[in-house]
Amino acid sequence: MKPPKIAVIGSSSMDLVVTADRRPGAGETILGEAFSTVPGGKGANQAVAAARLGADVHMIGRVGDDAYGQEIVANLKANGVITDYVEPVTDVSSGTAHIVLAEGDNSIIVVKGANDHVTPSYVKNALSLLRECDLIMIQQEVPEETVIETARLCTEIGVPLLLNPAPAREIPDTVIEQAAYLTPNEHEAGLLFPGVPLADVLIKYPNKLFITEGSAGVRYYDGAEEKLVSSFKVEAVDTTGAGDTFNAALGVAVAEGKPLEESLRFANRAASISVTGFGAQGGMPTREEVERGLA
Ligand code: ATP
Repeated sequence: MKPPKIAVIGSSSMDLVVTADRRPGAGETILGEAFSTVPGGKGANQAVAAARLGADVHMIGRVGDDAYGQEIVANLKANGVITDYVEPVTDVSSGTAHIVLAEGDNSIIVVKGANDHVTPSYVKNALSLLRECDLIMIQQEVPEETVIETARLCTEIGVPLLLNPAPAREIPDTVIEQAAYLTPNEHEAGLLFPGVPLADVLIKYPNKLFITEGSAGVRYYDGAEEKLVSSFKVEAVDTTGAGDTFNAALGVAVAEGKPLEESLRFANRAASISVTGFGAQGGMPTREEVERGLA
């Protein structure tokens, strides 16, 4: 079978992680214990996860013209993601997340940098590629107008859009209508549809709205009844990237034409494996690992 062609429009970043006994106070300098750099960003994470699952994945994103940008692109390529549409922005830094791990908790400063340059016109540059795709995926670490224009474009060219509305922000009704698949976690769903019981929201968007519930799995309405597709019991060591793996796997499965419930089981299986490894991308499974886990 020919692998499905998927474009991921989204963010990429380098996480700069420092571990220390405690956080410094204002004006204070302290010694940290260790430092590491880890590639991340929801767009890049989902692109890597989809490529590991065997799809033909094209990233549409931007990096800075700095060393991190080069590392971000190298990491995408090493994972089999096609980066023809990941262009550096001059005089802008790559997206970064500055993470301090101390006293059992993390503090994070995110600098969007080049991710703010994933503009509607930048996406339109890739129109000929987008037309050839089986599925387009986007998240909300790029400007809102880009999400709005992408949803419109997908409707125009007749390619289904999987919108992962994370981080949460309000979305125009037109975008919700135009998206084929919408995948908030419970917290994001509450912010997306304030004041409406989630059971009612699910009924309003049958076979479109999929609310992920961590280790419990994913809930949706199939047109006749509400269904919870359970995840798999695993020894979780780090849940970072579970959502990204879930989205990528769901995208790959539906782009391959798998029935919906089977696609959700595939996504749960992939995401449950991802939480058994450290880091967002560290635990993302290969196709064989997921299929072995489903057998
Ligand atoms: P994150 O932000 O941690 O990446 P998220 O909040 O976007 O994740 P969740 O609802 O926590 O999304 O998890 C997404 C999916 O990952 C779930 O629907 C489930 O399939 C899987 N998952 C997450 N945590 C676990 C776990 N502890 N055991 C098994 N599966 C899990």
